Amino acid sequence: MSTPAIQVKDLHKSFGDNEVLKGIDFHVDNGEVVCVIGPSGSGKSTLLRCINRLEEANSGQVLVEGVDIFDPETDLDAVRSRIGMVFQQFNLFPHMSVLRNLTVAQEKVRGRSKKESVEIARANLDKVGLSGRENVYPGHLSGGQQQRVAIARALSMDPDMMLFDEPTSALDPELVGDVLDVMKTLASEGMTMMVVTHEMGFAREVGDKLVFMDGGVIVEEGDPREVLGNPQHQRTQAFLSKVL
Ligand code: ADP
Ligand code: MG
Repeated sequence: MSTPAIQVKDLHKSFGDNEVLKGIDFHVDNGEVVCVIGPSGSGKSTLLRCINRLEEANSGQVLVEGVDIFDPETDLDAVRSRIGMVFQQFNLFPHMSVLRNLTVAQEKVRGRSKKESVEIARANLDKVGLSGRENVYPGHLSGGQQQRVAIARALSMDPDMMLFDEPTSALDPELVGDVLDVMKTLASEGMTMMVVTHEMGFAREVGDKLVFMDGGVIVEEGDPREVLGNPQHQRTQAFLSKVL
């Protein structure tokens, strides 16, 4: 058995009196695509943010490639550098060209030369269908293009896994498909992915596993076709009846 890419054990997280994660257990295997669905406020973003310790958990364990990220001895920067993150709101640097958005961290964090950073950036822009946009500023791109730049930027750091937090939720409907296509390509290439999404079609088609969260717990998880087609829990049924 190989070490899971991500393993979460009995994770609890509160904001003040509000317990947002109430004992979460799950894992993501290498090369697996795990989709997470659930109502707004159920703790999906908090869970994702706990995985690279953008949020501090109150108790429990998160192991990334077997490394305990809450252990004070752990080199957190090293762990984080293996995890690419893509958010709903792109988070590109608005004052930098597309190319610079993709090269700056390669140079500063990876210590790559400018030449190598540019080569890698160009290859990843090509991959997301944005060759030729190197010198444009993010504000001049559509939301879908900006999100694909954000994905290309994350890929340029050679992550072992990618975490997506509702990557298409801020996009106009006609721009969603291009972003999902890029994510499908990544999945087919074997990228380990955890994807919080409301795109049930993507979850069904691309996901190896579907996790339904509600009220800070995992209510149900399994094969996406099973969970979506034959939900076992009343809360899952109620949620799906609203979104499907
Ligand atoms: P989801 O992504 O499923 O919509 P979140 O993880 O964003 O859910 O939020 C879960 C709960 O945690 C919500 O009640 C939200 O108000 C609360 N919450 C999230 N982040 C913070 C924060 N930084 N401070 C206080 N409460 C927060
Ligand atoms: Mg969220």
